Amino acid sequence: MSDLLSNLSNTPIAKQLGVPTVPRLRRFEPGQPLLSGPVLVASVGDGRFAKPVSALVEENGQRVVAEAGEEKIDAIVLDLTGASTLADLATAREILTPAMKKVGPSGRVLLLGAEPGEASGAEAAAVAQSLDGLVRSIGKELRFGATANLLIVSAGAAPSAVDSSVRFFLSSRSAYVDGQNVHVSVPVGSMLDPAGMDDPRDPDLPLRGRVAVVTGAARGIGAAIADTLARDGATIVAMDIPAAGEGLAKTANRTGGTALQLDITAADAPQRLLEHLEQRHGGVDLVVHNAGITRDKLLANMTSDRWDSVLAVNLGAQLKINEALLGSTVLRDAGRIVCVSSQSGIAGNRGQTNYAASKAGVIGMVRALAPRFAERGATINAVAPGFIETEMTGHMPIGTREAGRRVNSLKQGGLPVDVAETIGWLGQAESGGVNGQVVRVCGQSMLGA
Ligand code: NAD
Repeated sequence: MSDLLSNLSNTPIAKQLGVPTVPRLRRFEPGQPLLSGPVLVASVGDGRFAKPVSALVEENGQRVVAEAGEEKIDAIVLDLTGASTLADLATAREILTPAMKKVGPSGRVLLLGAEPGEASGAEAAAVAQSLDGLVRSIGKELRFGATANLLIVSAGAAPSAVDSSVRFFLSSRSAYVDGQNVHVSVPVGSMLDPAGMDDPRDPDLPLRGRVAVVTGAARGIGAAIADTLARDGATIVAMDIPAAGEGLAKTANRTGGTALQLDITAADAPQRLLEHLEQRHGGVDLVVHNAGITRDKLLANMTSDRWDSVLAVNLGAQLKINEALLGSTVLRDAGRIVCVSSQSGIAGNRGQTNYAASKAGVIGMVRALAPRFAERGATINAVAPGFIETEMTGHMPIGTREAGRRVNSLKQGGLPVDVAETIGWLGQAESGGVNGQVVRVCGQSMLGA
């Protein structure tokens, strides 16, 4: 669905007419460098990340600057993991204030903070928590497609634990992820991929050698997930219902993967999926639970049909497949599960009690299963898309659609690829420090914020 205002707003006539500007977001393309300009890297207190982040910036061919000068900067990375007093917070403000005006289009502000629950004393906990309010406000103040996010890092996590997250949030892969905080802990299992096939340092193929199954892959967001993971080097098993066979075959052909026609709600679906993965691929590294349906009605008019089908596809099937994965050896070391939730599961939505309950349920499931997957060196996380430009949102009444597009800090809907890129980051073997999290892909939507 084309966004007329977005297309119009970048023309000279629109500027004369005062049409509000919708920024053009920079998105990833293979071969694109991680950074497009100098990066301000600084720390307050005895943060341990400024040095490795500076090395990462330089490895990627960009200069590190210690403070804002005259030139535009691509990103600010401020390590506040050692900040524990209000004086430290004031120092952070002194660094950020002159730098804010220097952040270029689609620039990045990335703060790293300590876990408030691990702080010694009320002031340190308050300072750690204050970063949440700080980063959300920065996200709302930045312009031209720039974003702000916060990594909350556990004291025991080595600097390498944040590598894949720092890369993701600095890169154009995180174009529509804004105002989020993500907890990074000591990575589960081994940081090294035992198969030796995953090379996170290869920016173009971070999923090389990994096998990924994507449910609901015949169209929409699922098709984009399959395309993106394949682009990043994964072998795709594309799964969808038999009725979507044509689209499914197209996805499988496009990605060079295989198609599996299977209704995820069938009683034998978990068993058939696991058998397919074992027989055809010898196992699986990444499972993306994307298939989902809506059957909207006000609760006052809700039938058991509508309720049951939505809960069965969006939640029940995921619960059963995850139990089957936990009970088998098909999920390989450094396995990653990513579940597609929704902003509706966080904010609620009129006419979507069934859908919102199922998508909130996904978040509960992810949190409950994270320690169980961690025991076997695997992780499970959720992504919660906001307004994404798809067939589904294209059919909304124009008023609802325009509201969905504009009530976020980036003033536009996201694209299916934005959800896919976020899943790609969580799917990397190197992302083992991120477990049991919900990452919203919503451009910092005001709904449910
Ligand atoms: P879509 O309807 O375009 O695609 C969903 C796919 O899932 C279809 O190919 C469908 O055939 C498949 N599917 C449905 N039931 C299935 C079953 N029982 N077994 C196997 N496959 C089945 O939807 P979309 O917009 O691409 O959404 C994808 C996911 O993202 C869903 O979970 C949806 O809830 C979620 N989401 C979408 C948006 C958005 O803005 N589009 C926002 C938030 C969350």
